Parts: sequence; C-alpha cells; structure tokens
Amino acid sequence: MADCIFCKIANGEIPAATLYEDDDFRVILDLGPGSKGHSLVLPKAHYANLYEMPDELLGKAMAVAKKAGDALVKGLGADGLNLIQNNGLAAGQTVFHFHMHLIPRYEGKDEVIGWTPGTLTDGDKEEILAKVKI
Ligand code: 5GP
Ligand code: ZN
Repeated sequence: MADCIFCKIANGEIPAATLYEDDDFRVILDLGPGSKGHSLVLPKAHYANLYEMPDELLGKAMAVAKKAGDALVKGLGADGLNLIQNNGLAAGQTVFHFHMHLIPRYEGKDEVIGWTPGTLTDGDKEEILAKVKI
C-alpha cells in the first residue's frame, strides 16, 4: 500500500528501532510507548486489520509475539505483558495496517490498560448468545 506508514516501516523504507525481523514480520519500538519497551509486531504485507489477516500468518504473528514478548519481559525485567490488538476506530485503531501491541508491565507502574468491570446480566447473556454465531 503506497501511503501506508507501517508498510514502509515493516519493509525498511522508513527506519525504525527494530528488535526482530524475519521474512514476514518486523518488531519495532512504539514511538508513543505506554510503558518501557512497548513494541509493535508488524507483518511486512499489508492487511488492514485482524479480519483481513490469513489464518496461517496470524498463527505466525502470535508466535512472533510470544518470542518477542518473552525477550522484552526478560530483557527489561518486566513483571507482566499485555498483548493488545485494535480493530476499527471505535476500538482505538489509528494505523490501518494490522499490528499487535506488546506492552511490558511493571509492578506498581504504568496503568495503561483497564476498564471498570460492569455486570453480565441474564438478559445480556441471553441476547449475546442468541445473536453471535461463530
Ligand atoms: P493503534 O492505535 O492503531 O492500535 O496503534 C498505533 C500505534 O502506532 C500507536 O501506539 C502509535 O504510537 C504507533 N505509531 C504510529 N506511528 C508510528 C511510527 O511512525 N513509528 C512507530 N514506531 N510507531 C508509530
Ligand atoms: Zn500497510
């Protein structure tokens, strides 16, 4: 995709701090980190979001996330790791080239993720199970 910043970064046309690269992926440091070591897993081929990603490449993406996440946590002495992947404006996606966020977490620091838990009512349960067909 000619105008896609992540296509250019993933394929080395625009430099980025690269932690890992293979034939299909590049793992880079996020320019606006939510915590120390916040990184992005980018496929070199352009897919806008999760639904466009072929299943086989998704499997590989998860394996890369596992390997890079483990190295980030060990290398930086983190206590945990969040794996986040946004799809659509409403979900916070700002760059429309599939990517996974690897966000190392440190005890007592970096409250970057969270929600206030609601309640799963019987009505909600019934409605959701009736409407969602996988
Ligand atoms: P999204 O909100 O789409 O899930 O995440 C996009 C992420 O890409 C953001 O965390 C943002 O900081 C990061 N980002 C946007 N442009 C660039 C860039 O040019 N280089 C790098 N390294 N990260 C970027
Ligand atoms: Zn792209």
